Amino acid sequence: MAHIPYSRQSVSPADIAAVVAVLESDFLTQGAALPRFEAAFARRHQVAHAVAVSNATAALHVACLALGIGPGSRVWTSPNSFLASANCALYCGAEIDFVDIDPLSRNLGLAALQAKLASAAAAGRLPDLLIPVDFAGLPCDLREMRGLAERYGFKILQDASHATGASYLGAPVGSAWADASVFSFHAVKIITTAEGGMVTTQDAALADRLRLLRSHGMTRDPAQMHAPPDGPWAYEQLALGLNLRMTELQAALGESQLARLAQMQQARAALAERYDRLLAGLPLRCPPRLADRVSAWHLYAVQLDAPQHRAAVFAALREADIGVNVHYIPIHTQPYYRQLGFRPGDFPNAEAWYAGALTLPLFPGLTPAEQDRVVDCLQAALAAHQPQTEAIA
Ligand SMILES: *Cc1c(COP(=O)(O)O)cnc(C)c1O
Repeated sequence: MAHIPYSRQSVSPADIAAVVAVLESDFLTQGAALPRFEAAFARRHQVAHAVAVSNATAALHVACLALGIGPGSRVWTSPNSFLASANCALYCGAEIDFVDIDPLSRNLGLAALQAKLASAAAAGRLPDLLIPVDFAGLPCDLREMRGLAERYGFKILQDASHATGASYLGAPVGSAWADASVFSFHAVKIITTAEGGMVTTQDAALADRLRLLRSHGMTRDPAQMHAPPDGPWAYEQLALGLNLRMTELQAALGESQLARLAQMQQARAALAERYDRLLAGLPLRCPPRLADRVSAWHLYAVQLDAPQHRAAVFAALREADIGVNVHYIPIHTQPYYRQLGFRPGDFPNAEAWYAGALTLPLFPGLTPAEQDRVVDCLQAALAAHQPQTEAIA
């Protein structure tokens, strides 16, 4: 039987034609496709500015820099995320810390955040930046976080890498509440540019700073220059930037993918609902649904009631050629982070989630027959490791 991956990109003939058109054009980088993709992404997310970069890790890095994060800054994020959500602070020389997750949403927890802020305020160690993560595509509690940000004086960089097209309180993710939001277009994410990332913001000055820093910190705009240009060739370096540019091939693919976002989103949501139905009654917890937000359904991640059997269940599914996965190993338990002083036990909710977590295949091209096979195999593996009480009696 065919392999079922946990995720697979959906590439259409129109996507391919868009990339080929760039290859046959005059510009492989720094042409018209990039601003077109940025404008389309901004429109779709109802936000004033969208700045594309080479990947979401670069987007997190450059957004931290543009938000003024540097040596001496303190950054807090969720331990239940990909490494990049925390690494970006360290790239800037800042200090990183974590806020434990809410066991229901699996996102950075509000109660834990409030408690940690209160003790940080007492100790004079408040964070400069909070990086909440929309785990699995479910938007985090941004309205309450914005209230706390105003009260305690920190900024919010939303890691919406999983949440392209998701909505929160009736508005697209990336349009409100956060100072800036980051999206990933890695091949397994909601839309793809193979590798790619985007920062959205309503703040024009922040967007200018992001554009400056993604391309060496240099400008050709006479209005930004310190001295009058001595010719049309003139450029000035105003900051220490990097080269984080997205190519025209990626941007053209992104624009074409974005046109199919609604359709791919519908396919993911329908499959997620079907999982909910098929898995009802099994000894596991399905992903949460919250009335005031719509998930992008990047991942369908369940929690087994018996975490001690997770490894065996995982192995049985992989044996059946089903690409199950686990999201995430809590960042603070990684050797690199232990060397910074973090220890297992520091964020028990994230560790408890990880212990029983299992991500099932979910992508627009997953067929109902394939999904049935995933559920049948999962059911069999769970039954093999958790004999029904009736069977024992
Ligand atoms: C994928 C991902 C990233 C990094 O994205 P890249 O585009 O691969 O650099 C960052 N944060 C989260 C939560 C992710 O899932």
